[in-house]
Amino acid sequence: MTLRLTVATSQWRAHQRSLIADVPGAVPVAKGNGYGFGLDVLAVEASKLRTDALAVGIAQEVATVRAAGWNRDVVVLNPWRPGDTAATDLLADPRVITMVSRASDLESIQHSHPHARVQLEIQTSMHRHGMLGSDLPLDLGTLQFEGWSIHLPSEGSLKEATALASMALSCRRGAIWMSHLSVADYRVLRTSVGVQTRMRIGTRLWLGAPSALETTATVLDVHRISRGERLGYHQTKAPRDGFIVIVSGGTAHGIALAAPVPQRSLRQRGVTVAEGLMAAAGRTLSPFTIAGRKRPFAEPPHMHSSMLWMTGAEPGVEVGDEIPVTCRMTTTSFDEVILT
Ligand SMILES: *Cc1c(COP(=O)(O)O)cnc(C)c1O
Repeated sequence: MTLRLTVATSQWRAHQRSLIADVPGAVPVAKGNGYGFGLDVLAVEASKLRTDALAVGIAQEVATVRAAGWNRDVVVLNPWRPGDTAATDLLADPRVITMVSRASDLESIQHSHPHARVQLEIQTSMHRHGMLGSDLPLDLGTLQFEGWSIHLPSEGSLKEATALASMALSCRRGAIWMSHLSVADYRVLRTSVGVQTRMRIGTRLWLGAPSALETTATVLDVHRISRGERLGYHQTKAPRDGFIVIVSGGTAHGIALAAPVPQRSLRQRGVTVAEGLMAAAGRTLSPFTIAGRKRPFAEPPHMHSSMLWMTGAEPGVEVGDEIPVTCRMTTTSFDEVILT
């Protein structure tokens, strides 16, 4: 029983190579579930690209990408904090660059690891991590300064990037490491700042050629069911005659009743209301497609499989069929990733 990601490798790699060629100073990001591919797969892919550094999310991920064969520099994106022993151990590693986002952390690191390689994070309109202009200037002592990090919101603005970069550079010259600028804006920034620039890219690199990726589930069982018959863990009654189709893919894979989405548009709110009404009627649309349509869950997903509801005289599928499933790639862990 398999939830599978099938990758058209030559198309996927062609996209990676063309994006990297378009973005001088690109730094691939491989973190978390490896954008659905797994960190090991991404470490191997990144090794084939012309880049001297790979960014991971947290200290624990460094060992994973190295075990998969990555042997160049690694940047740990989540900023160092006191008490994080895994991150502290890496301060002594000459191939690791540590992110520092608070003046007090910089002081601690200076005392414990005076020759660590550090990048300093500037706070942006994201307001996640980072230092403010009022925290500058900073005394770096003997630390090896690798540059400034500016992590913008999605579709970040060139104006904000330029203002923050010039504020940082007035404190100290060094490379500017960006994320979330358009390629065109990044190129403008690159020529205007007068220092080396780097751009971290994850989603656009790994998921930017969606037609190269196919996500499928396997039909594990099909049962005829009569109206009023009870089914599932929750023993709900079947609303009419039809079929229950059991497919691979459940909570362990990150298959949820509904993936959360940002609700900025009126249309999106409308979709949520419609989904709510459906759920109130006991039918939540699943991400699984049978005979060209997304089918409702018969009940919430189980650990490794899901029960779907099919009305009609024929189920339209049989055991062993592969059916399309829509996956949110940053929350799905596939049983198999096939590079064809
Ligand atoms: C995750 C992350 C990125 C990459 O983000 P994508 O949207 O996947 O390209 C870049 N910079 C930082 C600091 C991150 O945490």
